Amino acid sequence: MQAAETFPEIRDSVRRLCAGFPGEYWRKLDADRAYPTEFVAALTEAGFLSVLIPEEYGGSGLGLAAAAAILEEIQRSGCNGGACHAQMYTMGTVLRHGNAAQKQMLLPGIAEGTIRLQAFGVTEPTSGTDTTRIRTFARKEGDKYVVNGQKVFISRAEHSDWMVLLVRTTPRDQVKKPSDGMSVLLVDLRQAQGKGLTIKPIRTMLNHATTEIFLDELEVPVENLVGEEGKGFHYILDGMNAERLLIASECIGDSRFFIDRASEYAKTREVFGRPIGANQGVQFPIARAHVETQAAALMVSHAISLFDAGQPCGTEANMAKLVASEASWHAADCCLQTHGGFGFAEEYDIERKFRETRLYQVAPISTNLILSHVATHALGMPKSF
Ligand SMILES: Cc1cc2nc3c(=O)[nH]c(=O)nc-3n(C[C@H](O)[C@H](O)[C@H](O)COP(=O)(O)OP(=O)(O)OC[C@H]3O[C@@H](n4cnc5c(N)ncnc54)[C@H](O)[C@@H]3O)c2cc1C
Repeated sequence: MQAAETFPEIRDSVRRLCAGFPGEYWRKLDADRAYPTEFVAALTEAGFLSVLIPEEYGGSGLGLAAAAAILEEIQRSGCNGGACHAQMYTMGTVLRHGNAAQKQMLLPGIAEGTIRLQAFGVTEPTSGTDTTRIRTFARKEGDKYVVNGQKVFISRAEHSDWMVLLVRTTPRDQVKKPSDGMSVLLVDLRQAQGKGLTIKPIRTMLNHATTEIFLDELEVPVENLVGEEGKGFHYILDGMNAERLLIASECIGDSRFFIDRASEYAKTREVFGRPIGANQGVQFPIARAHVETQAAALMVSHAISLFDAGQPCGTEANMAKLVASEASWHAADCCLQTHGGFGFAEEYDIERKFRETRLYQVAPISTNLILSHVATHALGMPKSF
């Protein structure tokens, strides 16, 4: 059984758009660690980044399945949606929990591409995955919050106008549950830079425009608080299922890129007088990667249907992200092996995609944390932390 190919027209237009951004384009950016501005502009112009925004705010009001199809095709084409995927879903926090003024301030602009809301500030150097221990603190002073702290690995902050920022507003030892007492603030990055907010790029093994953010007496107007003070952790969790499922779809796209490339190369590369793919030692790992990808795609599509139907899907979204990120990593490894020495040559784009897809076993949530969720939530085993 093959996961049905949804949204064929959308997929076809995405493929045509991506054809204008071939391997050379990405290789040059990768070498310079530069942002794919032209690619993101083309996606914005075509309306692909606003599919999740309701029509009343100028978007196309489609479900997560459409967004997933777009990201899968981007990755399958050898492009990298990681540069802008958050522009699709970060607005979900405002859409679900923001007030009418905040929605009006941001959503139409995001839909038409004049506002970029694709920075999401949760991770901190000292708290790691244990989000309830974040130290960034916002103290309320009259009509403003004054924020101090530090965030790390905040992607696209230099290419975003606004940031969704998770802060503590009540110290952890003064709340009933550790997840209480955190709040979400909307930070206008254009205004904040140089006035209490500093962005410092972090160079990583892949071109991901990620940064460190320092907050020193940054003033944020109280009207930029999303929802109720102290409930921010729950608002952030709400958005995570969408993020995990869209990233899982990117992994499926990556996987298919590697399998397309590996099977093509195995058919055409001749060694010992015959195609290398005539050897079962070469063809079986590619076939196995395909099997694993098809199975993962079914899990992703099942979890997306639950999400789009408004059903609970936390465990399914986690499981989908786990199997999809492992499928893409196994496909990447097998594709590199199939290409022999040429897999390491930059001009084949395999090594670049190999580096890119490795990220998804760590971010936005690492495999161990997913296993811990499944062990305790789905199987009822005791909590380990
Ligand atoms: C390129 C990149 C982009 C990112 N973009 C963003 C972004 O835009 N916004 C943002 O907020 N964050 C971002 N992140 C951060 C990312 O979400 C975190 O790196 C990730 O969640 C893991 O957290 P950590 O790095 O603090 O690892 P840690 O929490 O320190 O964990 C380290 C390792 O230990 C394991 N581990 C920890 N505790 C346990 C346990 N109890 N049991 C078993 N294993 C455990 C983890 O699974 C992991 O493998 C990004 C990271 C990268 C690398």
